[in-house]
Amino acid sequence: MNTERPLVEVRDVARWFDVSAPWLERVLARKPRTMLRAVDGVSFSIRKGETLALVGESGCGKSTIARLLVGLYPLTRGTITFDGEPLSNMEGPNGLAMRKRLQMIFQDPYASLNPRWRVGRIIAEPMLAHTKLSADERAQRVDVLLTQVGLHPSDQSRYPHQFSGGQRQRISIARALAVNPEFLVCDEPTSALDVSVQAQVLNIMKDLQRRLGLTYLFISHNLAVVHHVADRVGVMYLGRIVEIADRDALFENPQHPYTRMLLSAIPNMSGDGGRRTPVAGEVPNPLNPPSGCTFHPRCPFARDLCQVESPATVTHGTTQVACHGVAQGWPMQG
Ligand code: SF4
Repeated sequence: MNTERPLVEVRDVARWFDVSAPWLERVLARKPRTMLRAVDGVSFSIRKGETLALVGESGCGKSTIARLLVGLYPLTRGTITFDGEPLSNMEGPNGLAMRKRLQMIFQDPYASLNPRWRVGRIIAEPMLAHTKLSADERAQRVDVLLTQVGLHPSDQSRYPHQFSGGQRQRISIARALAVNPEFLVCDEPTSALDVSVQAQVLNIMKDLQRRLGLTYLFISHNLAVVHHVADRVGVMYLGRIVEIADRDALFENPQHPYTRMLLSAIPNMSGDGGRRTPVAGEVPNPLNPPSGCTFHPRCPFARDLCQVESPATVTHGTTQVACHGVAQGWPMQG
């Protein structure tokens, strides 16, 4: 693994959404504004060439982070830097050059490809904005990209509906690579695919990463997928990262009760030294999150402190974890 300075640094990032009722209704009912804190105080870094996976149940904020990282949403608070430059510079004069270095692969290869365009045009389209290549040069590059993702150059002339789901996601990957990015944000890239083709697409992504020196942020709710692709893993719960660690440390010795709960739910993957934490309860309504540690209503180890005080993130070896029990050494056997 590379030990250079981080390529991506995310510091105390928050993204809130105003989900208030319409103004008149709110005024008549004397209701305050309602803010959905989709992401609230998230920090992490990603080294060049590594894959950081963010995992958690739906609604935990991981897809919001994906969109913040490619500039699709403005930040409510905090900073994101890419190769030392604030991401907010994407709006400035050098913004186009910066955008070229960050690309995104979306979850649904059916919705993200224009059904009326041939594949060659779909893949070449980002080159129009970001390169000065001639039409011939673009077509040649499309040939190379299609080959790199395991398709045939002749597939340029076909339409998306003529491909399977796995092939469409390969086309999405080829399009994302068209402008030679360094960092790919992958938002559940295989979750819409049959299990049988998920591994093929993941292996292509890993192979491309090795060959092209790519850096990935990989969003997934599937811990088996995360185990296959990640170097490090961050576990999210209600807008915060509750644990972040090297992959093997996280899977073999999870610290946070929520991480242990997620792992306990997966057969053959609960390598937590017998400290199993049974799966309990539902994710609370993010519009009305619990006080203190937001996991306390579901946590079998919660004490009074957990209901009133949000735990700070502390470092244990290579693991960072936000839990009063871990920080204070409470007995936490499942
Ligand atoms: Fe459980 Fe308390 Fe730790 Fe939250 S802070 S995970 S409630 S022990």
